[in-house]
Amino acid sequence: MDFRLNSEHQAVVDLARQVTREVIAPRADEVDRTGEYPEDYFQAFRETGLLGVAIPEEYGGAGLGCLGLVLAVEEVAKACCSAGLILLLTRLSTMAILLAGTEEQKKKYLGGTATGELRGAFCLSEPDAGSDTQAIRTRAVRKGDRYVITGTKSWISGAGVADFFVVAAKTDWEVPGARGYSVFVVDRDTPGLTVGKKEQKMGVRGVPVHQVIFEEVEVPVSARIGEENGGFKIIMQNLNAVRPVVAARGVGLAEGALMYWLQYARQRQTFGKPIVEHQGLQWMAADLATEIEAARLLTYRAALLVDEGKTGKEVAHYLSMAKYKATEVAVKAANDCLQMMGAVGYMEDYPMARFVRDARQLTIVEGTSQIQKNIIGRALADGLLTWL
Ligand SMILES: Cc1cc2nc3c(=O)[nH]c(=O)nc-3n(C[C@H](O)[C@H](O)[C@H](O)COP(=O)(O)OP(=O)(O)OC[C@H]3O[C@@H](n4cnc5c(N)ncnc54)[C@H](O)[C@@H]3O)c2cc1C
Repeated sequence: MDFRLNSEHQAVVDLARQVTREVIAPRADEVDRTGEYPEDYFQAFRETGLLGVAIPEEYGGAGLGCLGLVLAVEEVAKACCSAGLILLLTRLSTMAILLAGTEEQKKKYLGGTATGELRGAFCLSEPDAGSDTQAIRTRAVRKGDRYVITGTKSWISGAGVADFFVVAAKTDWEVPGARGYSVFVVDRDTPGLTVGKKEQKMGVRGVPVHQVIFEEVEVPVSARIGEENGGFKIIMQNLNAVRPVVAARGVGLAEGALMYWLQYARQRQTFGKPIVEHQGLQWMAADLATEIEAARLLTYRAALLVDEGKTGKEVAHYLSMAKYKATEVAVKAANDCLQMMGAVGYMEDYPMARFVRDARQLTIVEGTSQIQKNIIGRALADGLLTWL
């Protein structure tokens, strides 16, 4: 067991830190205020190769795996959670293709994502199907060598700028639940595909969410990812494999909040000394630092499991533990740091209110905390934890 990063992973940290310092941190508050997608972040990620950090070298990426992406996301999320999401989307929208796509799909979509020529979005949730992913109603009806997709997807991150959409749809609605479910990749300019209105949300405003509407969208059979009716497993593995990256957004946000507080607390004086010297606050900060370190280790460990090719049931609970812990720590860290700043923490002129609003997204997306606990609890009951 070795807790040190290798030189390639350390280089990712250094690069992401530089982009954060030069491009992201100076703009984070403005991005939050305007709610506009930060094209400058994207271009910085493109120029530095960070978009392709997790994409295998044979498809034009750096081949540094989930851990590489986790490290980059952690760094950028210290300053801006939206920046972390932009990087995360490079994985969320390509993982199904990496897991089960054809060589042609991999070349086009993984290659395009690595260079920044293409941006993807992941379309699973629907108005009546969030946690209950088996309840989706979007249908893909086979007609000869084509499928016709009809349905509505909700709260799709990055849909406004996406060039392609990975879409879960029922291909056999006679059978209930997970069976009869397939995955497709659909290009944005396909007739019948519309990106709906931008939703108003409380945080992570740099990456707007939209509805995506499919009205008799025709795609060739070659747009299907994996087997017909084999999509549920692909979607679950996709979600599992991305959980360490969501966790990294939480770890980064929590670290960013604590770092900001520390800087403030060294300046702000009460009762004749900097507030960082008050033991009551040091204890709160010590709890946070310890929780963050625990979440960070869970996250790195989860990323390493994914990099060993493990994304199934045998490790799902470890991936869920990372996501659950790190995102709950992010909420606690942002909330406690706001408290430890007093009125200034509550003012929108300072970043802590943004950290609080952004953190709240993390315990909901890609499986709520309750869903993560269901997965962990099930594994516990089934005796799947290695130390049992
Ligand atoms: C900002 C944002 C961005 C998003 N981006 C995307 C995206 O890019 N692509 C995409 O497909 N989706 C996206 N989503 C949707 C997200 O994945 C869902 O919101 C999430 O899965 C929860 O589903 P829901 O909102 O329908 O809540 P519901 O499923 O209705 O859950 C409501 C409450 O019930 C709890 N609950 C539900 N079932 C159980 C259970 N079995 N046991 C215990 N508690 C339960 C939940 O934890 C929650 O507290 C996004 C959401 C947000 C807020």
